[in-house]
Parts: sequence; C-alpha cells; structure tokens
Amino acid sequence: MTDNTIASLEKEATSVENQFQSNVANITANPTPKSVDELRIAYLGRKGKVSALMEGMRHLAKEDRPAAGKAVNNLRQKVESAIEDLIIKANEWQLQQKLNQSPLDVTLPVKTQTNTGSLHPVTLMRRTLLREFRRLGFTVVDGPEVDLDFYNFSALNFKDDHPARDMQDTFFIDGRDKTVLRTHTSNIQIHAMLENSPPLRVVAPGRTYRCDSDLTHTPMFHQIEGFIVDERITMGDMKGVIDKFLKAIYGEDLSTRVRPSYFPFVEPGGEFDLQCVKCRGKGCRICSKTGWLEIGGMGMIHPNVFEAVSYDSEKYTGFAFGFGIDRLAMLKYGVTDLRLMFEGNKQFLSQFPIHS
Ligand SMILES: [Zn+2]
Repeated sequence: MTDNTIASLEKEATSVENQFQSNVANITANPTPKSVDELRIAYLGRKGKVSALMEGMRHLAKEDRPAAGKAVNNLRQKVESAIEDLIIKANEWQLQQKLNQSPLDVTLPVKTQTNTGSLHPVTLMRRTLLREFRRLGFTVVDGPEVDLDFYNFSALNFKDDHPARDMQDTFFIDGRDKTVLRTHTSNIQIHAMLENSPPLRVVAPGRTYRCDSDLTHTPMFHQIEGFIVDERITMGDMKGVIDKFLKAIYGEDLSTRVRPSYFPFVEPGGEFDLQCVKCRGKGCRICSKTGWLEIGGMGMIHPNVFEAVSYDSEKYTGFAFGFGIDRLAMLKYGVTDLRLMFEGNKQFLSQFPIHS
C-alpha cells in the first residue's frame, strides 16, 4: 500500500478482487485440486493477498477501521465462497478423470475363491438333527464329558457288576473309579432331570468315549441323546418321534421299525432301524442284504432312573433314545470308512458344503 488511508485500502481491495476474478476465470473451465489449492493459498494463505489487506488495516486511523474491516471481510467471504465452488468442481473433475482412465467392466469374470473351508460331515449332521428336533419342540442342552460314575452309570440303573463298567470299555480318570470320560450322552439325562422338573423335552448332542478301536469303532465318537418326561407318555409317542426325524433326514419313503432289546436305563427297551438308505429296502452290501440299518437304542425310562432323580414314577412316564451322529452322517453322505471321519484329510473334507 502506498499510504495508510482508507481510500488506498479500498482501492487495493478492489484491485485484489479484480485479480482474483481474473485468476478464477482462467481456471474455472477446468479446475484441478492443485490449481484451486494454489489459488486458495495465494489469497487466503497466511501470506496471501486477502491476509495482507487485513494486516494493512492495523495502520489505519481508528475511526476508519470498522468501514475498512467490513470491506475486507466482504472480499474475504467472496473469495472463500468462490474457492468452495471451485473445490466441488475440481473434485468432480478428478472423479471424471478416474472414470475415464480405468473404466470398470462389471461383466468381467471374477477370480473364484478356491481355498474356502467346509463343514465337517459330523457338524452338518448335528445341525440337521438339532434343526429337526427343535421343530418337534425339543430343547437342546449340553453336559460334561468328564463326569462322576453316578451320572454316567449308577443313576442310569447300571448295577455295580455291569460289564459296561469294565476297564475294557470305560476310560477312568486318575485311575479312580468314581470319575470317568462319559461312555454315552445319557449322563445328560440325569443332569437335566435333576436341574429341572417335568415336563421335559430335551436333546443333547456331544462327544463320548470308549476304549475301543477298530474298523467300525473309534475311541471318541459322537452321540445324540433325547428324552421326554411328562404324564401319559407312551411307546407310541416314542415311535412317532423316531419315525418323524428319520424321515425328515433320509426321505419320507423310508420305513422305520423297532425291535426289542435291552439297556439298563429303559424298560421296555428296543433298537430302532431305518430302511436301507442305499437300496431302499431291497438288500445290498451296506445293509448286509437285510434291507435295514440299525440306527440306535431307545425305550421307556426305567422307574429306577426316576427314583435316582426323585421323580414320581407313578405320575410320570417318559422315553429316551440315543444314537451315533457319526454313523448317521456316514449314511447320509455315503462315507464307508469311519476312520475318514476323524483323520482330518483336507481332500476328503473339502467335498462337503460350507453351509448346513
Ligand atoms: Zn441296503
């Protein structure tokens, strides 16, 4: 500024505004983020032209300052607003540049992910079973894999000399006879009955353990236990439930049947069979030409079991059933060697779906 009067400051402000308008006119057709930023610094930066005007106000006479401040602020607002518009334009320009440079072809084939995981057949079968049993009104519960003899044997009416307690079958913990790796999921029956009052409708899947290892047995295997306790529960209810869930998994056209058998914790007890899933009852290698497959055990809950959990066996009746999840999965997916189920072979496992 040549002198410190308001007239010269106003003249200077007009000159700055004219320069600014001319600069804007130069880039407004094609503003880039860089050119807009340079313009912003040139006018609004700490050493910019608008800032210099603000600085010049300090040398004015006191009474001139309000009028000068108004004029300079007015200019600053004009500059700020013009630059904001330019920034928007510049961003649009930049986006357009990107779109022009790398056109996106949505029809290009994607690189398929080939290394995804899959669900283990036992997991698939467990989920299927739980879905069907929930549909039938059952609640799913869990129980301990290491348990006291009471829950695994005594309360389930296994007499002290029952062969299942023999060292050949049972893994004992710490060599003490009182704690075992559960040999079946039936221990959950006792836990669930002690923790709840009838009516009960429960299924419990889980790992079980026996000292047994050959072509058709592994020391660890999966079972699912189910039971109902209520008033007036009959064998008919039991056969209905078994029939319903097996048909839901393997097909409505297959028949089921029950044969008498013995388990300490049920009376009467039975085993249930499903028509062969492979030959549909005609007879083949899988069913040893019988047309039937053994699936699991079942029966009406023994009064001694109700006594162990202090249920009134005059008032309540119930049925229980249990079977191997591994075997059901093998039948469903056509797996013929049980060991494949636990070897963790990636090639074998990758054949199964990701979803249940
Ligand atoms: Zn068959």
